[in-house]
Amino acid sequence: MNNSMYLKIPALSENEPFARDTVAAFCVRLNPSLDELSDVKTAVSEAVTNCIVHAYAGREGEIEISCEAEGDTVHIRISDSGKGIEDVVRAVEPFFTTLEEEERSGMGFTIMQTFMTSFRLQSAPGQGTTVYMSKKFSVQDAERARADAV
Ligand code: ATP
Ligand code: MG
Repeated sequence: MNNSMYLKIPALSENEPFARDTVAAFCVRLNPSLDELSDVKTAVSEAVTNCIVHAYAGREGEIEISCEAEGDTVHIRISDSGKGIEDVVRAVEPFFTTLEEEERSGMGFTIMQTFMTSFRLQSAPGQGTTVYMSKKFSVQDAERARADAV
């Protein structure tokens, strides 16, 4: 059975580092490099921040995070039940933001796409948003390489 974890937290800004570090702790078992771990943390941070600032925009709500380890890959799902996105194609374009006045740069989804091995966005207005991301970690040491070869 694959290892997995599930986390449900209120959409509060103080929970963003908690969510990021919890996902990172889950990933450590997969023996990522520091750079790879940093990529995952940044992507999770962007996704969770989006839930807080866009999906609920200061109102109460929950963020659900689940992770599954599959071999040398972690699959991460981050969901909210907030306002949703009308045009997902436009939302993922670099520099597109609906919060220009708050000095958002519109780079969150671009960062997720760039830092992770795969990325998918699902959203519907009024129903919420789910981000699916995976990261494949490179083999870090001889022991792991041998284990993979068996
Ligand atoms: P940055 O991430 O650089 O601070 P940003 O959050 O505006 O800026 P993205 O993270 O790329 O940029 O998101 C693009 C746009 O998609 C947002 O401006 C917002 O309109 C919409 N969006 C993103 N995530 C959500 C979400 N969870 N719920 C509703 N709308 C979202
Ligand atoms: Mg963002």
